[in-house]
Amino acid sequence: MPPNPVPAIMAYMGSARAIIHLDNFVENFKLVQERVGRERLVCVPVKADAYGHGAEAIAKASLKAGAYCFAVADIKEGALLRKNGIKAPVLLFSQVLPWEIPGVIKNNLTPLVSDLDFIQMLDDAARAAKTRLPVHLKIDTGMGRMGCIPTQAVELAEKISSCTSLKHEGTLTHFSCADSSAAADIEYTERQIACFDEAVKSIRAAGIDPGIVHAANSGAVCQHPKAWYDMVRPGILLYGYNFDGVKPVMELRANIVHLKQIKKGTHISYGRTWTAEKDTKIGVLQIGYADGLPRQASNKWKVYIGGSLYPLVGRVCMDQCMVDLGDSSDVSRWDEAVIFGGPAPGAGELASLTGTIPYEITCNISKRVPREISEGR
Ligand SMILES: *Cc1c(COP(=O)(O)O)cnc(C)c1O
Repeated sequence: MPPNPVPAIMAYMGSARAIIHLDNFVENFKLVQERVGRERLVCVPVKADAYGHGAEAIAKASLKAGAYCFAVADIKEGALLRKNGIKAPVLLFSQVLPWEIPGVIKNNLTPLVSDLDFIQMLDDAARAAKTRLPVHLKIDTGMGRMGCIPTQAVELAEKISSCTSLKHEGTLTHFSCADSSAAADIEYTERQIACFDEAVKSIRAAGIDPGIVHAANSGAVCQHPKAWYDMVRPGILLYGYNFDGVKPVMELRANIVHLKQIKKGTHISYGRTWTAEKDTKIGVLQIGYADGLPRQASNKWKVYIGGSLYPLVGRVCMDQCMVDLGDSSDVSRWDEAVIFGGPAPGAGELASLTGTIPYEITCNISKRVPREISEGR
């Protein structure tokens, strides 16, 4: 039951909410620092609103914990960090579009470059704005996405050096399967590392300082010490998934809004995919796929209410889903259920059950779900 009278702050809260456990985030951050050594810089990827956790709160906690910089996908996300008072460097992981360049300069963001044309465009714009823009050179060593081919790295580094309005502040690559422990994948990552080493060496041999050298995502932080270089960029690890010893940062909750006793043979939800095998009690949970609870969790996932797990039955709807409470007398109307995280199984388990990855689960928790910051303890 909500407190009576209801505090004004709750008046627009609704049912579904995501508790963001910043204390867990900070613990995960310390774990990374201990692993890679405090002398290494940490870049915190806060793209997609910090994997759905809320970029402002995560960025502020990161800075307190000792983060050096941030990475976002695009200029909107970067500008929002600046608006929230974040002064640390902000890398733009995705390709900046030509019309975004003025905003990049205005917000002092750091684009990644991987071709001659774009380096020239940035230099021209920076010169016109009478500023010197930092850039990081991205080399594709086997991810097959953004980045120049390795043999072009020196040419691009020389081009950046010749641009009087650019600063070559860093050099990076990205791994394709550093999180896999399969022998062939370990070997592939080692080949990516060797290729990157070679490219960085050739930049140095040309008399150019590659700046901050970085490569490691979460998988490489855990499994490939040779890829740690000057800075690491773990995302999912900091949010508490995929690796031993980390704690999930997000906990998703919703309320039971309706209870009813049903007879054996009663169907539940769209398509009547579930039928009661005996008389039972059904609870309606006010959360659905529009909040980011995957529809594929229908008839598969269990939610945590007052110390026990109860199965989701019938299809997950847009705004509701149903739980089979059996003959439990422990659940009351308005009770809070934990969908994942906290005392319940985490988004990682929900992801494997629904055929996806925890990244997608937390990113998909929608805008209408308020994020509630918890500092813990
Ligand atoms: C998202 C991203 C990361 C972080 O990846 P995780 O798997 O979450 O650790 C690092 N580097 C780049 C370029 C990325 O796009």
